[in-house]
Amino acid sequence: MINLRLLWTWDHCVQWTAARAGMHDWGASNEYPASAEDFLREYSLLVRWCGRNGIDGVVIWGLLRDGHGGVETATRLCEVAEAAGVKVLAGIGLNAYGGVYYEGTSEWSLNNHLKRHPELFAFRADGERHILLPDNFMPQPMLHACPSRPENLEYMRDGLRWLMETVPVHGVQVEAGDTLCCECTLCRERRQHPVSALSWEDMALTYGPAAEAVWSVRPEATVVLETYSHPDPAPEGEAPGFGGGAPSWAAECLAQFPRGAHVQWVGDYVTAPRNSVPWTTRAPEGFAGNIMRSHHATWWRGRGDEVAIHWLAEVAQKSIAHGFDGLSIFGDKSPFRTGCELNYLALADYGSEANPEADLDSFLKRVAAPLLGGDELAAEFLRLARLIDAPDELDGAVTAARRQAAKLEGRPADRWTWLAWYLSRWVYDRDLA
Ligand SMILES: [Zn+2]
Repeated sequence: MINLRLLWTWDHCVQWTAARAGMHDWGASNEYPASAEDFLREYSLLVRWCGRNGIDGVVIWGLLRDGHGGVETATRLCEVAEAAGVKVLAGIGLNAYGGVYYEGTSEWSLNNHLKRHPELFAFRADGERHILLPDNFMPQPMLHACPSRPENLEYMRDGLRWLMETVPVHGVQVEAGDTLCCECTLCRERRQHPVSALSWEDMALTYGPAAEAVWSVRPEATVVLETYSHPDPAPEGEAPGFGGGAPSWAAECLAQFPRGAHVQWVGDYVTAPRNSVPWTTRAPEGFAGNIMRSHHATWWRGRGDEVAIHWLAEVAQKSIAHGFDGLSIFGDKSPFRTGCELNYLALADYGSEANPEADLDSFLKRVAAPLLGGDELAAEFLRLARLIDAPDELDGAVTAARRQAAKLEGRPADRWTWLAWYLSRWVYDRDLA
């Protein structure tokens, strides 16, 4: 069974009003291009939809920013979510990604902390301070803290306590950082094993104190710990990057993770469409849960909004078979986009009492069919949506979707109209090339 279902977001990508301008399609660490009212409205739409449709919570990166009202707006959103029965989990980078308060004048902004204490920066191998310079999808410089410095650990604990005392969030998803590790003498001497862009030993060092700080204020808070890894073993001695397997020292690091937390894993490479690694390992026992998070249907993997319900079924089935009991997918865009709507509803359905085996056909018949005009039409919708992989069949698919829209009324017709428009984009790009 699946016990925890999460939508994962960066604030700057969240667009749940169907007709509005100015949000990003993807990326991390962008500016927030709107107001506090926009932030509250967009996320209120999201959490209320989750509450009506069986999704447990939303992870928000950039929850706290001066640009959208800081503590006050976050508090109001948490109240909306509480009324909807949905959890708000703050996305918190412990040594990167801005810390507890993503952007603003707050002392709990990691950038402000490091500017006040330049000696506490993480350092690169060449001895320079570790500041990740703007990339095409991360346009703001990202300052990194050294995880070995006790002052940083204390600052991180104080910040998390402040968060839990100040904002009524239901918990946190914390990350140690996956944008290169500190290479200072302290860190190099502390670590027994190699690093990639991420370090399992840095996770083991920081996740326990982080969770303890959260629970010292709110013992019932949900704590999710990111591993950036899939659970199958990596080759001996290898330290994979994001989405790679667990290195041979992952088990000894996991043993230091706090047991009351949920451990989060990367499902991108263990199922279709990539399927590049096997999945033989059962979930580690003793934790509150194990979440499989996937980059399906997002521009992070090149195809935003696509209908991914068949792949999500595979993620869910393999998760259940291996003892994983949580699922997380991207949730930035409005269910007006039918691909997103179907994916979110599949997230809610797979592994539930109504569909314990995460069966795709069951979902299509019970959930999708009433939305799309009937059983056969639900299966046909999925088949046509997948033809973005078959350029020669796209013209026929667009025509078929357009005809179906004309036969229906109301929202079912809108959904087929969306499909015709979605597929026609690929036709347009194909012909322009
Ligand atoms: Zn260091």
